[in-house]
Amino acid sequence: MSLNNNLLSRSLHTVWHPCTQMKQHETYPLIPIKKGDGVWLYDAEGKRYLDAVSSWWVNLFGHNNPRIKDAIKLQLDTLEHVMLAGFTHEPVVELSEKLAKLTGLGHAFYASDGASATEIALKMSFHYWRNTGKSVKTKFISLQNSYHGETLGALGVTDVAIFKDTYAPLLTQSAQMLSPDFRLAATGEGAETFALRCAEALEAYVSEHSHELAAFIVEPLVQCAAGMGMYHPIYLKRAREVCTKFEVHLIADEIAVGFGRTGMMFASEHANIKPDFICLSKGITGGYLPLSTVLTTDEVYQAFYDDSTLKGFLHSHSYTGNPLACSAALATLAIFESDSIIEKNREKSAFIQHQMQVLTDLPIQYLRHQGMIHAFDVLTQNTKFSRDCYAAALGQGLLLRPIGNTVYFMPPYTICDDEIAHMVNTTINVVRMTR
Ligand SMILES: *Cc1c(COP(=O)(O)O)cnc(C)c1O
Repeated sequence: MSLNNNLLSRSLHTVWHPCTQMKQHETYPLIPIKKGDGVWLYDAEGKRYLDAVSSWWVNLFGHNNPRIKDAIKLQLDTLEHVMLAGFTHEPVVELSEKLAKLTGLGHAFYASDGASATEIALKMSFHYWRNTGKSVKTKFISLQNSYHGETLGALGVTDVAIFKDTYAPLLTQSAQMLSPDFRLAATGEGAETFALRCAEALEAYVSEHSHELAAFIVEPLVQCAAGMGMYHPIYLKRAREVCTKFEVHLIADEIAVGFGRTGMMFASEHANIKPDFICLSKGITGGYLPLSTVLTTDEVYQAFYDDSTLKGFLHSHSYTGNPLACSAALATLAIFESDSIIEKNREKSAFIQHQMQVLTDLPIQYLRHQGMIHAFDVLTQNTKFSRDCYAAALGQGLLLRPIGNTVYFMPPYTICDDEIAHMVNTTINVVRMTR
């Protein structure tokens, strides 16, 4: 106990925790995690918590996964890192080939985090237009309530007030398009009709501004940070058509929704579209190591291929294509293949939906799901609902992290029936207690 408290006070003294008003830790204690196994996290006293948010949406196949762990260990014995400028190595080549096959986009540029992938996609898009004689195309558009990361460039296309407003004076302005999140539809308007109405608004804007627009960046199918805002895939189909028609790039930010979360390997597949750029991170290494990538087309790649150095994409990052991270990503892809994860998740998703039906006894709305993402919005007067619900769930051995009034599950795919029952039943209890 005293050792534990010691660690907490040392952490508060020296570690500046993310996405946190540190003063709130006077009332909400930090949880010191000692080990992870499967869907469970164990604290210093051996109390366990079911990780229903996959440790911020990164974990796919559970903590302490033997296959990913072994792949990293094996790689560790041969090469931990070499710079990727002027050098190459087996894991990065193999991973790029595999991702090219999965996405249809054959050129992979690597970084270590999602926000950097966004930065790279924005820079590449702008630079493509510049290299092809259209340097007036300097502007970006995104969706209302979008989230693309929190570095200055990524915040410029993000539209979440609590993260963005403070830094507004520092940011490059971008325009936000009507979000097709079906919770925003008019009363009686279906999700598809609403998505089509949003696509029309997009077309109206793009047709007027295309001369100055470089790209439209979008989170395909689920706007996760907006509170799991889900929308009809017809929007993506129409967005692809609009972007093609008016010569504007379409950037698919699949950082959160990629790698099976929405029920397909990539969310863009639901609309059967090929974006000009796809940003991947989070689940790419199964949650083991930081890695992100931007994949793009031959056409974009060719526009940089030139005798002139300055026409090249000179963006650099020290850990680009890190072999350990790439080996974790390769192990992750191997699990998808050998264990038919996408197919198996269909049954798991249906089971979670079925279990969640009992939630309809509570005052909730928009009970929804897309693949392995399940969510609902709680009707409550409690202005501290998300924090109270989070704290109450921890007390009962469940890591939930509601976004505003939205409670969601995005668990590792290895979650079993008993664990699903624990997740859902505990959620019912804590929502009742805290709403
Ligand atoms: C998490 C996220 C990012 C940012 O990724 P980081 O690794 O946290 O920088 C970008 N876009 C989306 C859609 C995300 O969910």
